[in-house]
Amino acid sequence: MVKDDCIFCKIGAGEIPVQAVYEDEYCIAFPDMEPLMPVHVLIIPKDHYSDVADDVPEELLGHLFKVVQKVSDITGIHEGGFRLLLNTGDDASQSVRHLHIHMLGGHKMPRPNDQDWSFEANKDN
Ligand code: AMP
Repeated sequence: MVKDDCIFCKIGAGEIPVQAVYEDEYCIAFPDMEPLMPVHVLIIPKDHYSDVADDVPEELLGHLFKVVQKVSDITGIHEGGFRLLLNTGDDASQSVRHLHIHMLGGHKMPRPNDQDWSFEANKDN
């Protein structure tokens, strides 16, 4: 199922072209247009789910994480390591409401608790 006004559904359907890093029947992986790291890839299912908490079938979730492994090999970040990020809903500032896994790698990253995005540091924002 796809959603008419969803940009990631359009990417999944091939209506908006991307430089696919990996693609199969169920999902596509492509570079984030505003990369936060030297490697910043988004993995999205072709079917529409608003986020990871949207009753996503177990088989699809498992498949997406197998694709994480493949993309880490394809992009060469397997050895150095990488970070996965799944922004989910308003409190996580999810901006595209179609399930996607951010894969971030290619450079050393601070641990989240080294940065000042804790509740205490941001409670006035
Ligand atoms: P999030 O804030 O977790 O919803 O992340 C959405 C991500 O999608 C952002 O990092 C955007 O830069 C990225 N993005 C949005 N539209 C596109 C697009 N057409 N192609 C590639 N990346 C996109």
